[in-house]
Amino acid sequence: MSLDPVLRRAAARAIGFMPEEEGLALHRAGLRGGRLGPLLEVGSYCGRSAIYLGAAARERGTVLFSVDHHRGSEEQQPGQEYFDPRLVGEDGRLDTLPTFRRTIAAAGLEPVVIAIVGDSATVAAHWGTRLGLVFIDGGHSEAAAQADYEGWTPWLAVGGLLAIHDVFPDPSRGGQAPFHVFRRALVSGRFRELQAIGSLRVLEKTAGGAPVGERVGGKQHYR
Ligand code: SAH
Ligand code: MG
Repeated sequence: MSLDPVLRRAAARAIGFMPEEEGLALHRAGLRGGRLGPLLEVGSYCGRSAIYLGAAARERGTVLFSVDHHRGSEEQQPGQEYFDPRLVGEDGRLDTLPTFRRTIAAAGLEPVVIAIVGDSATVAAHWGTRLGLVFIDGGHSEAAAQADYEGWTPWLAVGGLLAIHDVFPDPSRGGQAPFHVFRRALVSGRFRELQAIGSLRVLEKTAGGAPVGERVGGKQHYR
């Protein structure tokens, strides 16, 4: 099923960084993963990717959990490359939650897009629901990206999809942390690459559990 043209336009208008071609690929991944369980994204920002994934969740009769502390990544802070002055709250701090909520409400996706406001690794440490798709597009520091991989991929169903954004094999094009996570997933032997579109990579989880010796989030997980 292709994305409703109204939602397609809403996503293109939303504040965000995801090119439409990648968003449409994300939507297709959501349709596939959504057969196996709910979808979860790390990095809500202003709701652009949540429209693509939320639409897929609705079509599959499931939901999208969208996790973000809504205080912005390092590169989105005042004075940094991706700072957007429209997103400063009354207290002078970055706050993308009001914009996110307006975007999702206007798209009619409130029934299926569930905002979780908090630090991704902390939320993951308390999680308990098997997922059909995990989309990693949160903090791009090495520590944040690796923590997202460690915290969320154990919850993916076998056959579920791991999508990673901002994967740049060429360091001159962008930061390397998402690329390192992508490689880590492949090297683990538990994922195979399905698709590469722009900086988006889509992988399928082919095996559960953790390889011997790989400690995940400080604990050994076998799911
Ligand atoms: N997926 C969005 C863009 C996300 S931008 C889109 O395509 O529209 C990255 C987001 O990650 C920012 O909103 C930032 O607040 C969030 N983020 C960064 N580090 C985080 C962390 N440790 N926990 C939760 N969210 C985080
Ligand atoms: Mg991104």
